[in-house]
Amino acid sequence: MPEYYRVGRKYSDADTLKDERDPKPAEPVAEVTVSNVGKYLSAEASLMLTGPVPDEVFEARKALCVACPSRVLSDKLPDEIGYCRSCGCGVSERAKLTVKLTMPDTSCPQNKWGRSHGRHRSVIDRAKSWVARKVLGVDSADKTV
Ligand code: SF4
Repeated sequence: MPEYYRVGRKYSDADTLKDERDPKPAEPVAEVTVSNVGKYLSAEASLMLTGPVPDEVFEARKALCVACPSRVLSDKLPDEIGYCRSCGCGVSERAKLTVKLTMPDTSCPQNKWGRSHGRHRSVIDRAKSWVARKVLGVDSADKTV
């Protein structure tokens, strides 16, 4: 039986049937629109050009997502934080909140958190980040870079 989780509560088909007022969370569904594709490309570009957001920004975003009823975990592609059901990104490697929350030019669809800046603002820092990712194989989401 597939199970879905929300902070402080475990969902299953059985216990959601007991309480119709509390809808069963569903797997996030990808909504492919021109706007969503543009936002996604902008978010990826900001990550590539300026690196991930600072630790304090990541942690603040994560705390808001963890407490949000729109956050779900997926049986298809597990992620430590999970996925957002409101943004239309669906379930994919790049839609994981552990990845999405590192992207500077992205925001919460419910306006709980907003855009930020990458940690590598100077050209030298950006070059070092690029070398770390491309040459040394360090993931861009690795906040130790
Ligand atoms: S991005 Fe916003 S709506 Fe989605 S889970 Fe995080 S806080 Fe909730």
